[in-house]
Amino acid sequence: MRKIKIMPVLKLAALCGGFAVLALLVLPSTLITFFGDSNSYINNGERTVPPKTISVYRTASSTVEEIDFEDYVKGVVAGEMPASFEEDALKAQAVAARTYSLSKVMRSGNDGFPAAHPTAALCDGTHCQVYRSYSELESLKGSSWMNDGYKRIEKAVDETSGQLMYYNGELAYQALFHSSSGGKTENSEDVFVSAVPYLRSVESTYEEKATHKDEKTTLTYMVLAETLNKKYPDRYTGNFTHSNIKITDRTEGGRVNIINIGNASYSGREIRDALGLASANFTIDKDTNTITFVTSGYGHGVGMSQYGANGMAEAGHNYKQILKHYYTGVEVY
Ligand SMILES: [Zn+2]
Repeated sequence: MRKIKIMPVLKLAALCGGFAVLALLVLPSTLITFFGDSNSYINNGERTVPPKTISVYRTASSTVEEIDFEDYVKGVVAGEMPASFEEDALKAQAVAARTYSLSKVMRSGNDGFPAAHPTAALCDGTHCQVYRSYSELESLKGSSWMNDGYKRIEKAVDETSGQLMYYNGELAYQALFHSSSGGKTENSEDVFVSAVPYLRSVESTYEEKATHKDEKTTLTYMVLAETLNKKYPDRYTGNFTHSNIKITDRTEGGRVNIINIGNASYSGREIRDALGLASANFTIDKDTNTITFVTSGYGHGVGMSQYGANGMAEAGHNYKQILKHYYTGVEVY
């Protein structure tokens, strides 16, 4: 993750805004237009207006499709969150997905498109954000879901139309989210590379209904050693027993920062990746021949917890309160 500076076009748009001049700026690499008008100044920030359409790489057909931006957001919320979630959780998801999508498009102006799909800034899979078109959802979920679930998503997206998250008046580029944290989210630098000011560890107290609670994965020490030595050939565990396995450090959010296994040491994220665990938030139970990893939460733990957002909404918090809780210091407008 890199810290990205806001694009200069927005500064220019802000200069024009005071005179209610329409500043139409076309970014040649993305062909996305941004408008700066008299509504540019809100909370002293510069409002970014999403483009009308967005180019998305469709994995199944290997083609780039031009999709209405707000319809795209609906297809992402449908792909990323259960439609049965509370209305304000769906709204929070809509704003987070909209912000994340737009930031990917804007960043591609500086960085180029990702190597995984060099013809568009975003793809429709977990690599970026899962997106399903209206017709795909219809055949996948059926007409009764479209009349109920999709309608709920549509309402959440329409009622937050164009709204984005800002930090210090700049688009919050890293609107990351995950399924559930297990009780506390993570500082971005403890999971990824850089410290992002709004991705701070916060309590996530309303996750009672979250899936992946106390999930157990048991394996023998032999299988553990084989798996780790194969995945991380730069380190070698050597022979070890239960007494040579120890969690020595945890992150602020409670995930394993360092675990020593035999002669080698790993981050919780490395263990999670190697063993396919639901989370790096785990404890260990050791037996004579086996070890059991007990995980809490599902996902990387950074940014908004979706189950936590749903719990907050059930407890009466609105989507802006939810977003401000999980993204420290942001404004939503
Ligand atoms: Zn992608």
